[in-house]
Amino acid sequence: MAEKKVDVLIIGSGHSGGMVANILTGKGISCLMLNAGPIADFQKDRESKVAYELPYRGFKDPKKVPHVFQASEFNANTWVDEKEVPYSYDPGNPYNWVRVRLFGGRSLFWSRQSYRHSDYEFKAKDHDGFGENWPVSLAELDPYYSRVETIFRIRGRREGVPQYPDGNFIESDGNWSGFMERVIAHCRPLGIPVCKPRNAIGVDGLASSINLLLPDAFASGRLKAVPNAVVRELTVDKKTGLVSGAHFVDRHSRREMTIKARVVVVAAGTLESTRLLLNSGIANSSGILGRYLIDQTYGVGIVGTVKEAQNGKAPAGFMGGAATLPRFRNISSRAKDFIRGYAINISCGGNVDTHCIAAYGEELLEKTEQYRGSSFSTYVYGEVLPRYENHVTINKAVVDAWGIPTLHIQARYTDNELNMMRDAVDVSLAMADACGVEVLAKNTEPNPPGYSIHELGTCRMGDNPKASILNKWNQSHDIRNLFVVDGSSFVTGGWQNPSMTIMALSMRASEYLVEQMRQGNL
Ligand SMILES: Cc1cc2nc3c(=O)[nH]c(=O)nc-3n(C[C@H](O)[C@H](O)[C@H](O)COP(=O)(O)OP(=O)(O)OC[C@H]3O[C@@H](n4cnc5c(N)ncnc54)[C@H](O)[C@@H]3O)c2cc1C
Repeated sequence: MAEKKVDVLIIGSGHSGGMVANILTGKGISCLMLNAGPIADFQKDRESKVAYELPYRGFKDPKKVPHVFQASEFNANTWVDEKEVPYSYDPGNPYNWVRVRLFGGRSLFWSRQSYRHSDYEFKAKDHDGFGENWPVSLAELDPYYSRVETIFRIRGRREGVPQYPDGNFIESDGNWSGFMERVIAHCRPLGIPVCKPRNAIGVDGLASSINLLLPDAFASGRLKAVPNAVVRELTVDKKTGLVSGAHFVDRHSRREMTIKARVVVVAAGTLESTRLLLNSGIANSSGILGRYLIDQTYGVGIVGTVKEAQNGKAPAGFMGGAATLPRFRNISSRAKDFIRGYAINISCGGNVDTHCIAAYGEELLEKTEQYRGSSFSTYVYGEVLPRYENHVTINKAVVDAWGIPTLHIQARYTDNELNMMRDAVDVSLAMADACGVEVLAKNTEPNPPGYSIHELGTCRMGDNPKASILNKWNQSHDIRNLFVVDGSSFVTGGWQNPSMTIMALSMRASEYLVEQMRQGNL
């Protein structure tokens, strides 16, 4: 391909890249989007098979995606093949990196829990002195959150709880089941808010970049997208020090190509963006690119059965429903042995997962029947502290299928996260006890880092160029025509699922970018 110059090159097509394309094209700017994977054709690529026709009977090929607990033989082609794009970690400190390279990225498969961060996250250092504050506040992001919530159609309820900021919601049903009323009665005196969960409804069952963000961009005639284009590195103009474009390789033909661009926006998903910058050797005058990797603790919680609902005896309207108990620790008082906090998600009704019933054969069948419709469970998302030691580096010894050096990930939880999770289980057990739940299983140990699929940080924003990579507009401190708009820019992770914040930031960064182009600064 002959070298061409585009106005803005966008790398990645997920929530963050899709938002950039939507805003920029809407304001008259031409964009080229490169995406490492193919466009999924849901009609063509989907084939129904029964489990006995599959070599692993519906369980996954253990070698292909060992770190993706959602993977099975039924959906194996959605995830990044770990033999094709490997990564490494120190023995004893595993990291679960869950990636999707299809056009639309992980926005095709996310669970759609949609929360705002609060100033307990944006200004966390002001509360407990640890780490850094974000260079933005909730008030600054509020209008962008509202617009993202409109596009993604977030269902929720306005709760008036400062650590669970309200937004522009489609009102959810305000009723609670009898059991949930009992949970509320238990939690209220303890100062634990019990709130309605918030989810993206989207359109026609999809809340993705490909149906909510990219169609307008394509319709404008100003977006060209190239699938199967794996970006190898960004190029720099030696005279100006600005980025000049990118080298990329066609996934199938392995043909190497170059594209020139006036501005480059990296939206490859937290760790791929950082990998790309590290491989390009740019934007790192602070020396902290790759540092302060965060995610959220995941896998902790309890499973039980509501005694009154066993044997089908639940009165009408007693069981059912879900709730989010947003962070309540370290808000108005100090927890004993950890800073920051966690949220507990609870649900009741439905059947108990048979993995949690300690019985076999006839007894298992009897218990399954006994517990039908009586399930109660909690699962916890906890904040992980941003620590310098948790980081990624380039592992030159291991390259991917296109010869691109891969990532080595070093991350582990510390006492702060582990103490927090013990507290969350204690709170869950006390709730179960008070509400008439027989506990069948509990898990106090979080899964390895990465499991939440909320990897964040490593290219954080900040006002101080010596302690951050990006400024408050997701723009590189070092290279003014380079923007990074995904979760890598996060300073703290909070307990909240991050995609609303990723999109609010990428929308805001895009509008700033347009303004800078108009003023001739880019
Ligand atoms: C099963 C699951 C459930 C989830 N549930 C929730 C939830 O309930 N709520 C929530 O907020 N979040 C959830 N998440 C996380 C959420 O999906 C992500 O935070 C979000 O989608 C990230 O968007 P992104 O655009 O930054 O990155 P991605 O969606 O990862 O997109 C990055 C894109 O960049 C492309 N790319 C990568 N490297 C290159 C390269 N070198 N060259 C070219 N292109 C490249 C990829 O092909 C990909 O399409 C979930 C994720 C999963 C998988």
